[in-house]
Amino acid sequence: METIFTKIIKKEIPSVQLYEDDQAIVILDIAPVSAGHALIISKEPYPTIDQCPNDLLAHLMAIVKQVDIKLKEKLKADATNIVINNGKAAGQEVPHLHIHVIPRYTDDKKNLTFAKESYKDGEIQRVGKLLQLETIVE
Ligand code: 5GP
Repeated sequence: METIFTKIIKKEIPSVQLYEDDQAIVILDIAPVSAGHALIISKEPYPTIDQCPNDLLAHLMAIVKQVDIKLKEKLKADATNIVINNGKAAGQEVPHLHIHVIPRYTDDKKNLTFAKESYKDGEIQRVGKLLQLETIVE
């Protein structure tokens, strides 16, 4: 499926690119939460994480780590938010797998927090049982 990111990858649309290899590109988000907000984008347009092979995910996370280090070194970020909006209901606007790395500063007053709920009696145990994972196969 063609997305804005496939056009950016094919250089049909300009972007400020920080990195490229055969599997991924890194660009600056055009509407940043703060300057330096980067997007690590898989070249293969998997819409969401469940469709992405593990080795590619590992590669994308290795790039995320480098971006995090660079933001701290060059922009003096104190921390980063690393975010995947994984599906439309989670706020994903572009259905093409990408990871946000957002520079954060002490007392920057940005609000990326969620309102939290609480469990009813016994609910956390029930949900925990339901969500037991099978062995992870690489
Ligand atoms: P999502 O909500 O899908 O996780 O995030 C998509 C991100 O892509 C948004 O933060 C948005 O600002 C960014 N974006 C959308 N269109 C463009 C574009 O044409 N160029 C760049 N550099 N970023 C874009």
